[in-house]
Amino acid sequence: MKVIEPEPDFILWTGDDTPHVPNESLGEAAVLGIVGRLTGLIREVFPDTKVYAALGNHDFHPKNQFPAGSNNIYDQVAELWRPWLSNESIALFKEGAFYSEKLPGLSGAGRIVVLNTNLYYSNNEQTAGMADPGQQFRWLEDVLTRASQAKEMVYIIGHVPPGFFEKTGNKAWFREGFNEEYLKVVRKHHRVIAGQFFGHHHTDSFRMFYDDADAPISVMFLTPGVTPWKTTLPGVVNGANNPGIRVFEYD
Ligand SMILES: [Zn+2]
Repeated sequence: MKVIEPEPDFILWTGDDTPHVPNESLGEAAVLGIVGRLTGLIREVFPDTKVYAALGNHDFHPKNQFPAGSNNIYDQVAELWRPWLSNESIALFKEGAFYSEKLPGLSGAGRIVVLNTNLYYSNNEQTAGMADPGQQFRWLEDVLTRASQAKEMVYIIGHVPPGFFEKTGNKAWFREGFNEEYLKVVRKHHRVIAGQFFGHHHTDSFRMFYDDADAPISVMFLTPGVTPWKTTLPGVVNGANNPGIRVFEYD
């Protein structure tokens, strides 16, 4: 990354830091150790760069089982990421692993929102049956409404994306109700959402959002993975992905 772009304005880190192995091969200490090691490495290489980081579904123990409230992993990761976060974000992160920061530069007109969409993942049993885990949707509505009033534009960052996995065609990651709710928020607030950046798929891909009249209103970029993970999901013919990062130019 340093060779390709030595001075990025900021870095988006969309999560899944640990190896994709059975729970028995990891543990809470191992997960925290890996997140800590990567945080240290990024800070060593980019000491003066702001990093907006999200947790992936593998960055918890047991994997995918993100709770809707405070716990030791949210607590410890908030401390690891303290150099990149405001005090308000640290407090929020400890409750639900989501936060919002004003982007430096851009005459104060830019804002980053980092979501914990692991709460919406269909493999997460902790949040099954909840209408708004961690009250993250309510919080997101508030942040986007205030951004609109303040004439800010927002980038939304997360790990597990809404919509389908193109390599199976019909595999959705979000529980259906959460997918509906997310679409509702984007349709309502798309004028202040300048872009969305998610991970999880390992494919170098994107998703379009449309309004009720089928007009395109928003785009979500899915970042490739740094490691060449080969998807083994049933129904996938060619699950291999080349490693990659993306460098964005933005307005
Ligand atoms: Zn993932």
